[in-house]
Amino acid sequence: MVKRLKNYIGGEWVESSATTYTPVVNPATCELLGECPESTAADVDAAAKAAQAAFEEWRSTPMLNRAQYMYRLKTLLEDRFEDLSEMVVKENGKTRDEARGEVRRGIESVDFAASVPVIMRNDGVEDIAAGIDETTLRQPVGVFAAITPFNFPSMVPLWFLPTAITTGNTFILKPSPQTPISMELLFEIMEDLDLPEGVVNLVQGGKEASMSVMEHPLVRGVSFVGSSPVARIVYETCTKHGKRVQAQGGAKNYIAVMPDADLSASVKNIMGAAYGCAGQRCLAAAVVVAVGDMYDQLKDELVKQAKGLRVGYGLNETTQMGTVISTAARERITKMIEQGVQQGAQLALDGRGVTVNGFEGGNFVGPTIVENVGSDNILAREEVFGPVLTIMKADDFNSVVDIINKSKYGNAASIFTNNGKQAREFKYRVNAGNIGVNIGVAAPSASFPFGGQKESFFGDLHGQGIDSINFYTERKIVIERWL
Ligand code: NAD
Repeated sequence: MVKRLKNYIGGEWVESSATTYTPVVNPATCELLGECPESTAADVDAAAKAAQAAFEEWRSTPMLNRAQYMYRLKTLLEDRFEDLSEMVVKENGKTRDEARGEVRRGIESVDFAASVPVIMRNDGVEDIAAGIDETTLRQPVGVFAAITPFNFPSMVPLWFLPTAITTGNTFILKPSPQTPISMELLFEIMEDLDLPEGVVNLVQGGKEASMSVMEHPLVRGVSFVGSSPVARIVYETCTKHGKRVQAQGGAKNYIAVMPDADLSASVKNIMGAAYGCAGQRCLAAAVVVAVGDMYDQLKDELVKQAKGLRVGYGLNETTQMGTVISTAARERITKMIEQGVQQGAQLALDGRGVTVNGFEGGNFVGPTIVENVGSDNILAREEVFGPVLTIMKADDFNSVVDIINKSKYGNAASIFTNNGKQAREFKYRVNAGNIGVNIGVAAPSASFPFGGQKESFFGDLHGQGIDSINFYTERKIVIERWL
């Protein structure tokens, strides 16, 4: 019997009212792991009502008690660390170490949420006028929801849920229907927290559930992570319905390698940034721009190392790169490579058609490197979200900054250099929200906001860090005089 996933609403596992189900498939082995319900507006309504019903009591639960749940959650997650990581490998296809890395990052967000009592402290001024005191209160808002992507099934939901509830809100999570089981496992683990019923709710599903969340009158705000076209829809829908929204979108991240960079350290970092998680990271290196005369050396070294990557099933400890998420994703990536070639690109390394012994049906795409890519080429402009690295040339620093700033995306950009002045100029002039200096994947830690500009982010308050506290709370100003 294939496992049919349930929703978690008001402290109970309940059947969805869905009439259609999405198969959840291990992308390496093709094993059917479960069926994800396409939850309906009625399911979202039940979750929103349960979350609303829990809100008043939860917001008046002392702050320190709310934070204690985070300490307990951390312990529970540490105890089940390997189970959570293994589930990520099975439903997403990444390697064990990559999955461990994402679960670790998720736990760091729980650590951050435990510090909310410190961050929530208010400020004020005594005698702002004669006998009048003025103070700020930070109050929770109500029901928040998060809609999350497939590529970090465990970490991305944890960017939001811990902080949203520790600040005193109640919460609905709608994970990706391609990777819903990691969150089923998280909610099973969270049952041991004995949170009051309705504080956290899980609604599995796809577009209908997302739209119902965004349109529901009881939902006060939405955190979204996914592709840019959907991020735009989420931003427009939520603002139309008067909700707070933070919508983190897709990316096309550039790495500039300056002539004075340390070649071997740069290549090591670029390899991880381009091929980690099979390129399915919003912070993945998509385009490397070699500045000046280092192009040939850099290309030769990247091709040599990329050829040597061991592609395989993530549960095998020797695997260095896993699968992409689905057959549809593999076909989309293959088609984009073909289009890029038709538009003039040349393949320095072709990962299409890679097969892995024992996993012949798996959705593998090998490391791919393309060159001679014009600025209008699809591989220079659009997010591939697969293990495809474009290498370009630029004459000098100013040209590389121009190339990067012409991109419609602005998620991340990195520079490899030993020149502090150029690194500073890069930080100053490049329009991207996460900047790396001699760092391949510029991933902010939990106490810093996750940057993103242009089509990579819609909204103003970002996920994580102080931004997330501001997003999940309302500031109220109190002006007092006692006669
Ligand atoms: P996606 O946009 O297809 O889906 C994201 C979520 O939106 C899922 O829960 C999905 O069910 C829902 N959804 C899909 N279509 C919808 C629609 N039309 N209306 C309402 N909801 C809809 O993204 P994905 O393929 O799951 O994830 C990969 C994308 O996410 C990439 O573009 C990647 O760059 C991006 N991403 C961004 C960040 C970031 O922090 N900026 C982090 C991780 C991933």
